[in-house]
Amino acid sequence: MERKYRFISNRILKNSREEEKGRMRVLVKTDSDIAETDYECPECGFKEHTEPEWKRPFSVTCSKCGFVMRLPKLKDEMKREKKKAKA
Ligand SMILES: [Zn+2]
Repeated sequence: MERKYRFISNRILKNSREEEKGRMRVLVKTDSDIAETDYECPECGFKEHTEPEWKRPFSVTCSKCGFVMRLPKLKDEMKREKKKAKA
């Protein structure tokens, strides 16, 4: 089967109070540099589809409230969880 996407992510997003209120789905087609992104802003609840250029580290700015939603690397996120468990 043909591989259609080179990057797929579906993540829960935290707002500035560390509450898991939003989400972001990112799809990047194999031969494309466009990130097809659907997000729900964790800060204000605004939902939008946007297609910015794909680059790492990837982030999208909410077009309603300006909150920056970063797509964390899985590795970094795991590190942080470990730290949290230790504390
Ligand atoms: Zn927002």
